[in-house]
Parts: sequence; C-alpha cells; structure tokens
Amino acid sequence: MIECREISVTYPGSQTKALQAVNLTFTKGEFICVLGKSGAGKSTFIRCLNGLQIPTEGEVIYSDQSLNKLSEAELRPIRQRTGMIFQQFNLIPRLSVMQNVLTGLFGSRPSFKNLTGLFTKDEKSAARNAIRSVGLNGFENRRVEQLSGGQKQRVGIARALVQQPAVMLGDEPVASLDPGTANQIFTLLRNMHDDLGLLTIINVHDLQLAKKYADRVIALKDGKVIFNGLPEMFGDRE
Ligand code: ADP
Ligand code: ADP
Repeated sequence: MIECREISVTYPGSQTKALQAVNLTFTKGEFICVLGKSGAGKSTFIRCLNGLQIPTEGEVIYSDQSLNKLSEAELRPIRQRTGMIFQQFNLIPRLSVMQNVLTGLFGSRPSFKNLTGLFTKDEKSAARNAIRSVGLNGFENRRVEQLSGGQKQRVGIARALVQQPAVMLGDEPVASLDPGTANQIFTLLRNMHDDLGLLTIINVHDLQLAKKYADRVIALKDGKVIFNGLPEMFGDRE
C-alpha cells in the first residue's frame, strides 16, 4: 500500500542525512510503531509518507503512484485519506471540539468565521459520530483550550476520523501525555485500526508502548533502519 524505495532526505545546509536509503513496505491492516531517539529521523520519515516532504533521493509509492511525481492538486486526495495526529495536537485552541473536528473535512481555511455554518447536515453528523467514537460525547461545544492533553488528542483523532482515512499516521502523538493517558490513546488507536482495517504508522519513543500495541516495529538510528520486525524480537537494551 505504501512503499519507500531508497529514500534519503538531506536538509538544506545540513552535512548529515536525516534519512539514509530507507527501504520499507507497508500493507493495509498493519499497525506499526517507529522507534528511535530524538533526531533519529522519525518525523522526517512520517512526513515523507504523505507527501508533506519529498525525499531528496528515492521515492515513496502510495497505492502504485509515486508521490514525487504528483502535483499539489494530485496529492490532495491522498492527504484527505491520510489521517495525521501530532505531539502538540495541532488543534485551534479557541474553537470548539466540533469546529476542530470539522476542519478535518476541509483542511485549513483562510477564515474560520462561522465555521460550522459552512458544513452540511451530513458533515456535522459525521463529526458528531467521530466525537462519539473517541469518547467525547457531550464535549461538542467545549473549547479545545479547556480540555486535558488526553482529551485534546482524542479531538485530534476525531478530526482524522472524519476524513474517512485509509491510513493513520502519528508523529509522537503520546509524547506529551502521562503513561496512563498514553495507554488509553493507544488502546483507542488500536481499536479504531482494527475496526476500520487501517494502515497505522506511529512514531513513539517508548519501547513498551510499541511492544504492547504494534504488529511490527521499525527502529531508526541516524536516519537508517536498524530494526524491522516483530516487537517480540526487539530487545530491551537501552
Ligand atoms: P526525530 O523525529 O526522530 O526526532 P527528525 O526527523 O525530526 O527526527 O530529525 C532528523 C534529523 O534531521 C535531525 O538531525 C534533525 O536535526 C534534522 N532536521 C529535522 N528537521 C530539520 C530541518 N527543518 N532543517 C534542518 N535539519 C532538520
Ligand atoms: P547507543 O549507543 O546510542 O545506545 P545502540 O547501538 O545501542 O546505540 O542502539 C540505539 C538504540 O536502538 C538503542 O536505544 C537500542 O535500544 C535500540 N536497538 C537497536 N537495535 C535493537 C535491537 N535489535 N534490540 C533492541 N534494541 C535495539
């Protein structure tokens, strides 16, 4: 479903490569955790998977299409089917839960005035369903800035869900949360993944979370894949 062929990324002005000749294949139904220390290349890798970043060398093939060759307009439907969740949630603090979730349908717009007025009944009902499925029923009109970290990430997941994703990508989505909340978020992501038959790829720095939830673990170090296999084969040294 997604294939990375020899992808390398060199940032302008940098001597070292953030990713070095990464070859990986991902199939629908897999739940994958990407491990690695800070600076290992995890964020860069995730951004390459939805075309937010085009590798300096190599290519990412997404359902038989090379992302390198697509225009912004051609990338849009791919991004629309790719849910993204982030460490800092990337929500709009002063807007409500409902309004934030609705932004998943259109992406960012120049003006958020009367945002809900722009959406159809069906869209609002899809947003309500997404909010319910992340366990935030009753929080629809709450401003996001009033929520806890775990609740904010649930809003982030609901925003991804209304996109009807085929692929869910996470860039350290639980790194700002306490361990208990991190486990709750992973349980939610895993259940959603199983219900919807997604391809889920999530960066984490916590080996225990990866072992508990992932079907496959990939470890990056200095931009290179140093492990790619079953979680139980990944040792505990660190
Ligand atoms: P991780 O997510 O594992 O912390 P990153 O993908 O953020 O790793 O970073 C990989 C490497 O690329 C690091 O050495 C980092 O300093 C570098 N890097 C990341 N983003 C940029 C950027 N925009 N410009 C220059 N170097 C960058
Ligand atoms: P460092 O000297 O920076 O700790 P290592 O070579 O020990 O570098 O590995 C870097 C990281 O990758 C470590 O956190 C280690 O736990 C992890 N790691 C790499 N390969 C494996 C493996 N097969 N089993 C367990 N941990 C691994």
